[in-house]
Amino acid sequence: RELPGDPDPSPERRQVHGALYSRVDPTPVAAPRLLAWSAEMAERLGFSEDEVASPAFAEVFGGNALLDGMQPYAANYGGHQFGHWAGQLGDGRAISLGELVNAAGERWELQLKGAGPTPYSRTADGRAVLRSSVREFLCSEAMHHLGVPTTRALSLVGTGEDVVRDMFYDGHPQAEPGAIVCRVAPSFIRFGNFELPASRGETELLRQLVDFCIARDFPHLSGDGEALYGAWFGEVCERTAVTMAHWMRVGFVHGVMNTDNLSILGLTIDYGPYGWIDDYDPDWTPNTTDAGQRRYRYGQQPQVAYWNLSRLAGALSLLLPVETLQDGLRRYVDAYNLAERNSIARKLGLRECGDDDVELMQQLREWLHRHQVDMTIFFRALASVDIAQVQPEPQVFAEAYYDPELGTQGEAALRAWLARYAERARADAWPAEQRIARMNAANPRYVLRNYLAQQAIDRAAQGDLQGIAELLEVMRRPYEDQPGREAYAARRPEWARDRAGCSML
Ligand code: AMP
Ligand code: MG
Ligand code: MG
Repeated sequence: RELPGDPDPSPERRQVHGALYSRVDPTPVAAPRLLAWSAEMAERLGFSEDEVASPAFAEVFGGNALLDGMQPYAANYGGHQFGHWAGQLGDGRAISLGELVNAAGERWELQLKGAGPTPYSRTADGRAVLRSSVREFLCSEAMHHLGVPTTRALSLVGTGEDVVRDMFYDGHPQAEPGAIVCRVAPSFIRFGNFELPASRGETELLRQLVDFCIARDFPHLSGDGEALYGAWFGEVCERTAVTMAHWMRVGFVHGVMNTDNLSILGLTIDYGPYGWIDDYDPDWTPNTTDAGQRRYRYGQQPQVAYWNLSRLAGALSLLLPVETLQDGLRRYVDAYNLAERNSIARKLGLRECGDDDVELMQQLREWLHRHQVDMTIFFRALASVDIAQVQPEPQVFAEAYYDPELGTQGEAALRAWLARYAERARADAWPAEQRIARMNAANPRYVLRNYLAQQAIDRAAQGDLQGIAELLEVMRRPYEDQPGREAYAARRPEWARDRAGCSML
């Protein structure tokens, strides 16, 4: 299963042809220090608490030392960025250390993000700032606990070095502390890994990558030739669909869904300018560099994923007939519709979602949007509506309004919707505890709102790491009411309104 690597050992930034990766070691940093870690992920990988606490751990996961058997590399891939083919991109600041097989026989790839330059760094420095690393670390774990397929995070290591960034909002270069996240996944292969060799007519290289990916990451698929490839592409489409439905369910906006940022396993990958829906708005994007076109806005994500799968299909058309690829894309549409209906049923506490329920949900979404209502708080409160009433009272939603005046204006419409909803929910006739438990397992109490992450970052920048640890602890059980932690479930405060977005850095 050896794949063609770059024969040129030079770390020089360049176009790499005929190879799927380049061997490159992390660049050592001045003073690696463990700032945070995921206890679950450490345990899963077989690291003891003592090992995590040892200086050697920070050395390895800060990029200053390698363990036996590690052969670090950067992957070569391309991608469509904002709808345009961008050519070779590659791991410009991510370096995979290798794979670890744990006691349970699970294989996990360990990858440092921000570990220094690679042949794919182009004009950039290969580093990551503390701010973006905290965001990636926390959100990877938060998404996992929300039940959303995602890459995981093992550790967050401060480098003891500054990184200079052009802050998007004021345009002045600024020195910020650097950090490195060790992210973990069965595979970091992206759509763009296939697109690049295809774009260069490197058909055999493409075929080798497909064979490798199927054998390693899709071992349950059997058969051979076109049938196997077709089954594989179809599964990629289905997995992507399921993940999109999860994003929509929890109000996650990725922000930069370029094809180099879509995982072949359907994992959420590359936490950059992501954000969470506060007041419900399908047009919202957290990515300030996409504020004009809003290509990657919340409501557009399922369509964008389909577009990206079409680009992957284009690459695979060197190996597969177009009909097979079209079948796969149809599987996306079917799987998305199924998963979305499942979400609607769970969010509304219904046994099943019929056509009328899709419409009921659509009405609600339009109302939430029009009246600037917090998505997470509203859906969580929906479980406490007394559906035995012909006309349920809307008081349970009091905390969900960003603009009380708009809320008052919307009350009549909400009452009408609640009456319709209660009647529909009564028709399902299942025990209240069961219905409520099902709703509470689909409508999180806690999500990683941007301002919460920002508060943890601000504290970390002052040397107080407790904010990160506390937030991670809350996000480990997002569907449970956690007494004493109500503040983490509050709607976005007014001061954070204009800080909901961020740049790509
Ligand atoms: P992204 O939009 O974050 O997925 O990044 C797109 C491309 O830019 C990828 O090839 C990244 O590896 C590369 N990149 C982003 N930031 C840096 C950086 N600081 N140094 C080197 N390459 C980077
Ligand atoms: Mg990326
Ligand atoms: Mg990124």
